[in-house]
Amino acid sequence: MAEKVVIIGSGCAGLTAAIYAARANLKPIVIDGYEPGGQLTLTTMVENYPGFPDGILGPELIDNMRKQAQRFGAEFRAGAVTDVHLSHRPFTITAGQEAYRAETLIVAAGAVARLLGLEGEKQLMGHGVSTCATCDGYFFRGKEIAVVGGGDSAMEEANFLTKFASRVHLIHRRKEFRASKIMHERARANEKVNIIAPAVVEQVHNVSKGAVDAIELRNTETNEKSTLPVEGIFIAIGHDPNTKVFKGKLDMDHEGYLITKHGSHTNVPGVFAAGDAQDRHYRQAVTAAGSGCMAALDAERFLEIEKH
Ligand code: NAP
Repeated sequence: MAEKVVIIGSGCAGLTAAIYAARANLKPIVIDGYEPGGQLTLTTMVENYPGFPDGILGPELIDNMRKQAQRFGAEFRAGAVTDVHLSHRPFTITAGQEAYRAETLIVAAGAVARLLGLEGEKQLMGHGVSTCATCDGYFFRGKEIAVVGGGDSAMEEANFLTKFASRVHLIHRRKEFRASKIMHERARANEKVNIIAPAVVEQVHNVSKGAVDAIELRNTETNEKSTLPVEGIFIAIGHDPNTKVFKGKLDMDHEGYLITKHGSHTNVPGVFAAGDAQDRHYRQAVTAAGSGCMAALDAERFLEIEKH
């Protein structure tokens, strides 16, 4: 027998969809994905999720959502989705050795922030290294920090972070900026922003201290190396949605973000999308949760209409 709802992804969007679908008695199956809990598990304190006046740790928030979904009957399965067949219903979803059949599917597979691939970067994630200025900027009040990237995100984050930081070094690998002119100009005009280009970050220190205290830079023209003392580094070099498995099966934009219409509907009836897999703009825990709720309500209505 097919499941009524299968949810791919267990971040904020997937878990909220699971809570709503479970409370609607749809007994959702949630496939965890590569990174159970999603991007919130990589953060420390979340201070902008409504309802927590003193903030809440990202992993704790996710754990609470998971327990809340389980309480209403959602079931979790480990594994990442390797293939999907969406040409007829019930849909088939394969995760390694396991295959699931689903009347409706909610894709909440999220996105991953691109990283530089440096050793210190991963180890100090949440301890000075961040991929989200909106989430973590507040922790850098009065501190000197760096932002890496030359696109709109990097410009926006650099400007935003000057509200908190004493100085923001914006580091970009080329002299030309991909960012829109207006956003680039705004960053250039901000006296707290110091642009360092062309330069790449070659190391993030200090793993043994458990906190960022400096980064090593290399000028890409002269190869000259330097050490920049900073207490935080924001990586803003883009995101990749986890949607490869849906290529050619669901409509997506040129960067792989799923296209939704009328709420959470994709181009395949019965398949809904939520969270960062379909959102290139907001990417917040609360917006992901909201869209997860929408997807569950849309799936419920879809099944209801079909029944009658
Ligand atoms: P993006 O436009 O793809 O820019 C990524 C930047 O990171 C580029 O400057 C790129 O350098 C650099 N980069 C990529 N990989 C790197 C690496 N390994 N090491 C060092 N640098 C690296 O991404 P985005 O800024 O996140 O923007 C994504 C989309 O959202 C864009 O369409 C953007 O316009 C939009 N957006 C709009 C707004 C707004 O309008 N308010 C705000 C944020 C984002 P190169 O240039 O050398 O490739």
